[in-house]
Amino acid sequence: MDKKRRDFLKIAGLSAIAGVAAPTALNTLFKGEVIASDHGGGHGAEPQGQGHAKIEVPTGKRFGMVIDVNKFHRYEGLAEKCTNACHSIHNVPKFTDPKVELKWIWKEPYEHAFTEHSHYKKNDELHNMPFMVMCNHCDAAPCVRVCPTQATFKNKDGMVLMDFHRCIGCRFCMAACPYGSRSFNWSDPRGKDKDGKPLIAKENTKFPTRTRGVVEKCNFCAERIAVGQEPACVEACGATKAMIFGDLNDAHSEISQVLKKQYTIQRKPALGTKPSVFYII
Ligand code: SF4
Ligand code: SF4
Ligand code: SF4
Repeated sequence: MDKKRRDFLKIAGLSAIAGVAAPTALNTLFKGEVIASDHGGGHGAEPQGQGHAKIEVPTGKRFGMVIDVNKFHRYEGLAEKCTNACHSIHNVPKFTDPKVELKWIWKEPYEHAFTEHSHYKKNDELHNMPFMVMCNHCDAAPCVRVCPTQATFKNKDGMVLMDFHRCIGCRFCMAACPYGSRSFNWSDPRGKDKDGKPLIAKENTKFPTRTRGVVEKCNFCAERIAVGQEPACVEACGATKAMIFGDLNDAHSEISQVLKKQYTIQRKPALGTKPSVFYII
């Protein structure tokens, strides 16, 4: 493993795979901002891997996101700004062929984002709005349950994360995710396009690049949260407050206050995955 990847794994708490002591060490490192997972190679106290349908009792944080669709409609270019912020900071390669495209956050029309809603006699304005979609960091995440290697796991702050080194590319998680939130690296993301330009225009050396045959998705900016920063997409929204991130289990957090006052919807709630991303429409 190269140094860059090692550094990231330390920051993201994924080094917990080395032993159960790692979360404690990270706790100290980040002054209590634990993002390490219990999942570890040794299956910690909260088994969530293959065959376990356990849903955790909310004892700690559960991070979530509110997305205000009207604001994305009002501020032209905001959706692209968020996507660029996320993709550049996370070294998401730019494949032009939509069949092999990699996406962590992107916009979809209403009928794609909310397939369960009736589209008969549709409201024109709603159907012209950009709906930002991303991983929902589901509380009962099917992708976690089906992953045979625990490359996908949920940490104690409710984030569904990935250990890229453990991913064997079986794509069970992609089949299990009902939201299409995951992308697969069909080609070498560190390679070049047909014009000879690097697929990653400007590499962020603080975040790992991936390899061919590995799945990836939004990580709720775990590496930024660990050092007290906002998610990059939230930061890109700035004063528009089109995206609000925070702890759903803290009644006093901004996100909880917004959810108390505003009517929001989630994607495919009937499936029981308990998405942590909410939409103000
Ligand atoms: S949205 Fe998909 S990838 Fe994200 S946690 Fe839910 S099931 Fe997993
Ligand atoms: S593709 Fe990777 S993350 Fe997905 S289920 Fe297989 S090993 Fe797990
Ligand atoms: S939370 Fe972070 S990883 Fe997820 S979409 Fe926003 S910027 Fe990307």
